[in-house]
Amino acid sequence: MHKQSVAIAWRKFKNKYRLVGTKCSNCSSLYYPPVKICSKCRRNSKLEDYVFKEEGTVFSKTVVRSAAEGFERGTPYVLAILELEAGVRVCGQVVDCDIDEVKIGAPVYCVFRKMYTGGKEGIIQYGLKFKLRK
Ligand SMILES: [Zn+2]
Repeated sequence: MHKQSVAIAWRKFKNKYRLVGTKCSNCSSLYYPPVKICSKCRRNSKLEDYVFKEEGTVFSKTVVRSAAEGFERGTPYVLAILELEAGVRVCGQVVDCDIDEVKIGAPVYCVFRKMYTGGKEGIIQYGLKFKLRK
């Protein structure tokens, strides 16, 4: 079995638990999730990691009442498109609130939460979700 290098494991870890995207230093465009090429500069792309501020606003939302297998717990819940800095949008769950409290334009911030329990080993996966700033 192939063993993953510590550097690759760490890169995946930090991207999973922070809002790490990409910035093109040629044109200042921001991307999330990270990209390998800037869609504006193409072969002139000069990409670097960019850590987004862990806050944004609700751009749109939907209420999930019938969740996919493994995500049934906690229904109904709000799945939203969140707008980060520079208009970059990301999809995420808004937690710890009543579903009717989530309004378009409401300020949110990132929180580190359990995503799901995977496989027969019951390994718990964590990731980023969002919470209303009250
Ligand atoms: Zn660019």
